[in-house]
Amino acid sequence: MDLKLTGAFIKQERKAKNLTQAELAQKLMVSEKTISKWECGNGFPDTTLILPLCEALDISANELLSAKKIGEKEYKQEAEKNLVELTNRQQKISKFLLTLEIILGYMCSVTLLVCVFVASYVTMPDWLRILLIVLGFVHFVVGCGFCLKIEQGVGFYECKHCHYKYIPSYSQVLWSMHMGRTRYMKCPECGKKSWQKKVVK
Ligand SMILES: [Zn+2]
Repeated sequence: MDLKLTGAFIKQERKAKNLTQAELAQKLMVSEKTISKWECGNGFPDTTLILPLCEALDISANELLSAKKIGEKEYKQEAEKNLVELTNRQQKISKFLLTLEIILGYMCSVTLLVCVFVASYVTMPDWLRILLIVLGFVHFVVGCGFCLKIEQGVGFYECKHCHYKYIPSYSQVLWSMHMGRTRYMKCPECGKKSWQKKVVK
């Protein structure tokens, strides 16, 4: 997907519909700046905005992703190509989020350790000592919450028995035993418990 081409295509179709950037922005409930960003090739509409944008411009999602009008014949071919690209894009985002989770996890743990260490060994009033430890813990708990949210929502878990892939509930992830990203959970399909690996695809 070439953002510059897609941007130029959005601009061309917007003009063909006699819409200003402001009018299109209003239809999609986004800022004018967002439209301009897309048209300049500095961004791509969020997945939730793709269909509303296509509707406003009277084009198909397939045409938007291909950055051109498509005839009947080419349609299927382009659709398949675009589906693959969109899936790859989603996988890249998932991988990025999972890396972010690791960084966030380390940062929170280090902050907590530093807070506890400083509170234990540096001379300071007792109230400051307690405050420091409390802040360290709050930071840690909030950070872990974020990490779990990523852990739960990004990618899928795969059952070892029936190979069913699914997204578990937040509490399932929170309370399950785990080693790294592999969690001991019950499969919603076959009902068996197993150590389930995280898969992005
Ligand atoms: Zn299963």
